[in-house]
Amino acid sequence: MYTPKTKPWHIVILLAVCTVVAAPSGADDAASRIVDSQTFLRRNMAPAGPPASASAAAVEKLLGQMTLKEKIGQMTQLAIGMVTDGKDQSIRINPEKLHKAVGEYGVGSILNVNDEALSPEKWHEIIRAIHAEAKKSRLQIPVLYGIDTIHGPNYVVGSTLFPQPLAMAATWNPELMLRGTQIAAAETRKAGIPWSFSPVLDAGRQPLWSRLWETFGEDTYLATVMGVATVRGYEGSDLSSSSSVSASLKHYVGYSYPTTGGDRSPALIPEITLREYFLPAFAAAVKAGAHTVMVNSSEVNGTPGHANSYLLKNVLHDELGLQGFVVSDWMDIKGLVSTHHIAANEKEATRIAVLAGIDMSMVPSDYSFSNLLLELVQEGKVPASRIDEGVRRILTVKYQLGLFEDPLRGIDSKTVVGSSESRLASLEAARESITLLKNENQVLPLAKTAHVLVTGPDADSLIPLNNGWSYTWQGDRASAYPKDYATILKAVQEKIGAANVSYVPGTTYDKEVDIAKAVEAASKADAVVICLGEWAYAETPGNIPDLTLPDAQLFLTLKIMETKKPVILVLTEGRPRIINRIADSAKAIVMAYNPSNEGGQAIADILFGDVNPSGKLPITYPRSTNRLFTYDHKMFSGEDWGEGKAMAAPQFEFGSGLSYTTFSYSDLHVAPTTASGTQTIRVDVTVKNTGSRAGKEVVQLYLNERVASVTPPLKRLKRFAKVLLQAGESRQVSFELTSDDLSFIGADNKRVVEPGMFDVRIGGLQQSFEWK
Ligand code: BGC
Repeated sequence: MYTPKTKPWHIVILLAVCTVVAAPSGADDAASRIVDSQTFLRRNMAPAGPPASASAAAVEKLLGQMTLKEKIGQMTQLAIGMVTDGKDQSIRINPEKLHKAVGEYGVGSILNVNDEALSPEKWHEIIRAIHAEAKKSRLQIPVLYGIDTIHGPNYVVGSTLFPQPLAMAATWNPELMLRGTQIAAAETRKAGIPWSFSPVLDAGRQPLWSRLWETFGEDTYLATVMGVATVRGYEGSDLSSSSSVSASLKHYVGYSYPTTGGDRSPALIPEITLREYFLPAFAAAVKAGAHTVMVNSSEVNGTPGHANSYLLKNVLHDELGLQGFVVSDWMDIKGLVSTHHIAANEKEATRIAVLAGIDMSMVPSDYSFSNLLLELVQEGKVPASRIDEGVRRILTVKYQLGLFEDPLRGIDSKTVVGSSESRLASLEAARESITLLKNENQVLPLAKTAHVLVTGPDADSLIPLNNGWSYTWQGDRASAYPKDYATILKAVQEKIGAANVSYVPGTTYDKEVDIAKAVEAASKADAVVICLGEWAYAETPGNIPDLTLPDAQLFLTLKIMETKKPVILVLTEGRPRIINRIADSAKAIVMAYNPSNEGGQAIADILFGDVNPSGKLPITYPRSTNRLFTYDHKMFSGEDWGEGKAMAAPQFEFGSGLSYTTFSYSDLHVAPTTASGTQTIRVDVTVKNTGSRAGKEVVQLYLNERVASVTPPLKRLKRFAKVLLQAGESRQVSFELTSDDLSFIGADNKRVVEPGMFDVRIGGLQQSFEWK
C-alpha cells in the first residue's frame, strides 16, 4: 500500500513550487476568478517524483540479473487478446496464453480492451491475474498495463468522461484540464491501470484530419498550456501515488499534418515549421516530467516516425531531455514493411526501429518482435548496450510508478469511480467549452416558455456527444453507453417541460429521414434547435473526402429556414464541417464539439440561459473547403483588400466566442517601450463587463514582429487569462513577456530573437515596443 511519507525528492519539489508561488506573478490573485496561463505554467512545470536516480541502483542490479530474452521481453507490448479469450464482457484470462506471455516471454507491457470497456471489478480480475503470473516468474518484474484514457477512463465502465480534448481546449481554462485529468488518473489507477496513452500533443492544424478532436487545436501555446495541465493532472507530484498514472505524449511528431488530410498519411513539414509549431508542446510536456512518448505512425519528409533516429534520439532525448521511454504505436514496426516500404522484412524493420530509438514495441498480436530482436542481438546486428538502454528506461518508469512495491496500487484506493463530484467537474468543463459563435438579435437565450422544435441527427444520442474512444474504439456502440445521461433532446425536455418540445429527427448523419415532417413541426414552433454535425469515429475510419457537412443535413436546415422561424444550430462535431450555405441565415450557432455525457445538459443550460457561454474556438472555423489556414498564417497577396480580404475571412476566427454579456477593453499599457536582453515587458489591460450579467472572458494577448528575417506570421498567441467578472465589474489583467516570447525559428532552424518593433494586441487594442 502507498503511504504518503515525505521522501527526499518531495522536498526538492516543494521548494520549487514554493519559489514559484512566492514570486511576483502578475495576474494570479483571486485564483478562483482568474486563471492566467503564465502563472499556471510556472506552477505546474515541476516534474513528478521520484526521480530516476532513486531507483538507479535497483535497476542496474536487476539488469545485471536478466537474460537477454528477459530484457527483450520487457521491450515487448502485447494486446490483451494475447492473454485472454472472448471479447467484450465475456473476456476472460486464458492461463496458458498468460503463462506464455508473462512466464515464458516476460513481456513488459499489455494494453487495450477487446473491444468494450470493462467494469472496475473485471479489470481487477484481469490485472490481478497478470500480476500473479508475473509474481511466479523468475525475477518477478511487474507488468505495465497501458490504456487509452483519452477523455477520462473511456475503457472503464461507470467512469467519469470529460469533453474530448478539443473541447477542453475551448475552455481556455487549464485548471479545468488539470482537475479533469486528476480525476481521470485516479479512476484509471483505481481500475489497476497505471499508464495512459495521452495527451495527444499533435498540433491540430489540418481540419480534415479524423483525429483533430483528440488535439488541443491549432495553436502551439494553447496546446502547450493544456498539455502541461494534462501531464500534471496525470502524474501529480508523485508518480507512485495511488491516484497517478504515467502520461504518454503522442504521436511524436508531425502525425497531425497529413498532406491529404487522411489519417496515417505522409506529411511534409520542413524542420523550421516542425520546430516552430509542432515541437514546442512536446518540449514543454517533457520538461513537465512526462515519462513516456508514443511515436507517429506515419512519415514526415520521407522518413517514417519509427525510423527517425534524428527526431527520436537527437531531438527527443538529447535536446528535449526525455528521461523515460519511447513506445511504438500499434503494429508500427511491421508498418515499416507493409506501409512505408523502407524495410524488406520484419527483421530488418525491427533493427531499424530499435536502433532509431524505439524502446518498446506495441507489437501487438504475436511474438515476432521478441523473436526477431533476440536473433538480431545474437547476430550482432543490434548491440546489447542498446537493449540495456531501452530496458533501463522501462524498468525505471516501473519503479517510479511504484509497481515494484505494489503492482496493484490504486485498486484499493479511496477513489470512487464516477462520483457525483467528478460528474460535476465534467459538467463544468462542458459548460465552459461550449462556444457561442453567432447570436443575431440576441435570439439566445431562449425563453423557457417557448415552444421549441428539436431536430437533426445529433439531437437524441450520446454517441455524437462523445465521439471515438468512448466505451469502444469507434465510440459508436449504443448498447455500451450508460443510460443515466441526457441527450440534447432529453435535457431540453427536462429544462422546459416535454409538452413544450417537439422532436423530429429529420435526417441521419447523411441520409434524409423525415424532412417534410420536421418542416411541418417547425412551422408550429417558436424556435427550432437543429442539432447537426458528425457521428462517432476514430483514426482512419474517420477519413472524409470533403469537409462540407453532408447534404442531407444542409437540406434539412435550408428547408426549415424557409419557414422563417428562428433557427439555432447546435454543432456536435470533432472537426469544423463547412456550413457556409446555412450559417448566414441561422440566427444563432452554438459549437459544442464533443462535450461528452454531460454535454446534453450543458447545451440546454446554455440554450436557455442558465449558464453564460465562455468557450472560445481553439481552431479556425473555415468558410470553404479550399481555404484551410490557421489564424497564425503568413500574409498573402490581396489579404488586406478587396476580394482577397473576403476570401481570407474564415467562417469564425480562432479565439472567437460570444457571451450573453459584453466586455470592453481599455488602458492597454506596455512597459518599458524599449527593452533588451533579460528585461521583461509588462503588459497591463483593463477588461470590463459592460453587460447586465456575470460572465467569463478570455483575455488573449497576441504578438507580432513587424519585420523579421523569416516572414513573420500575422500574429501569435502568447498569453491568455480566463476572468470571471460580475455585471459592471472591471479588472486589470497583467502579463509578462520575456525574450523567449519574442523568439522564432530562424532560417538555420535555430531559435533566435531579432531586434525590432513588436505589436501587442489584446481585445482590439494595440501598443508597441521596441526590442533592441
Ligand atoms: C493509436 C494510438 C493508440 C493505440 C493503442 C493506435 O491505433 O494511433 O493513439 O494509443 O492505437 O490503442
